[in-house]
Amino acid sequence: MMEETTTFADDRALLVERAAVHLFRMPPSVPWEDATHRVPAIEVIVLELTVNGRPAYGFSYTVGVGGTAVRALIQDYCLSQLVGRDARYVIGAWKSLYYHLHRTGMGAITTLALAAIDVALWEVRAQASGRPLHLEMGGSARSIPAYTSGIDLHLSPEELFGLQQVKQAEGYEWFKIKVGLPRQADDIARIAAAREAIGPDAHLVLDANQSWDLGEAVRRCRAFEPFNVSWIEEPLAPEDIGGHATLRSKTGIPLAVGESLYTAQSVRDYLVADAVDIVQADIARVGGLTPWLRIANLAAACNRPVAPHFLVELSLHALCAVDNGLVLENVRGGSLHDLGLAREAIRVVRGAALPSTIAGHGVTLEIAGNQRHRVPASDYVFDDIRSHKE
Ligand SMILES: [Mg+2]
Repeated sequence: MMEETTTFADDRALLVERAAVHLFRMPPSVPWEDATHRVPAIEVIVLELTVNGRPAYGFSYTVGVGGTAVRALIQDYCLSQLVGRDARYVIGAWKSLYYHLHRTGMGAITTLALAAIDVALWEVRAQASGRPLHLEMGGSARSIPAYTSGIDLHLSPEELFGLQQVKQAEGYEWFKIKVGLPRQADDIARIAAAREAIGPDAHLVLDANQSWDLGEAVRRCRAFEPFNVSWIEEPLAPEDIGGHATLRSKTGIPLAVGESLYTAQSVRDYLVADAVDIVQADIARVGGLTPWLRIANLAAACNRPVAPHFLVELSLHALCAVDNGLVLENVRGGSLHDLGLAREAIRVVRGAALPSTIAGHGVTLEIAGNQRHRVPASDYVFDDIRSHKE
């Protein structure tokens, strides 16, 4: 008897012909300061894959520390794994590279490296299919609300008031400010100013950047409750899952966590412990779009929304690819466009962000025009005095 066979036409393989990595280090275009950190620079790691003679770019980032290590990990241990690989098999590639790298530990350097690779592979696939990234990843929403976000703890209540009014006039309905000043009264003065500027109905969210212990977090959250806060972000150290669960039982303000988690398993631990309301996994820090989608689905299974941290160009596509996307973070001065690395800004119309409709992620990198921000491949020299926090 003739066996029925299934043949698979493999003539459309997307074989990687060349792989290269670039690193850029650029100062933020506006000052950035939160409760635990002054950001000296954003480092953008760009992975360039050539398929069918055409370049495709993936990227990852750091907030000023670790970029050369990420580049070295990719350059010395990953480029050789990419050439000859069929870029259609993105999820398989992630697993393969995960096993290749994970004995250096999963988190920070390793996942940031994986992210640049994963995004580049998704980009190859999306370009080949002719679809924008959010459709290639699944396709759910045509737009997503955006929030205006500032790394703004250095701003006075008066400055904050004026800034939020400007942003509201632009059409935003979600606003995030930093908290975590030494005196609770000073935090409240800033929250009150922001609330007054945006009115009673707009969403106001707060970010503490891990600045409190549990007792202080409980005291501050209770003091902030009258201001109708839509979430408090990173009130405690990210390792303290139990602390978040306890805090959640003691305040009515929803807890947002995730920008400092590096694996889907860490997010799962938060969900299982009932310690988080809004999952903020960062596409670069968790290792790319592939694990980010896994995390978003995990959150969906637990009936929690996602609101990814930073990286606005990619987060916009990711949010429009899933059905539990809440809101997009648009950090003032933080987009690849603001940093001078991407030609186009994302489109935000009356507070709603619209993903690009061209094939792929739609980010056109200005590599040739950014030579002065390029970090040399060797003999890296520290030369930015703004990196010092006195
Ligand atoms: Mg944050």
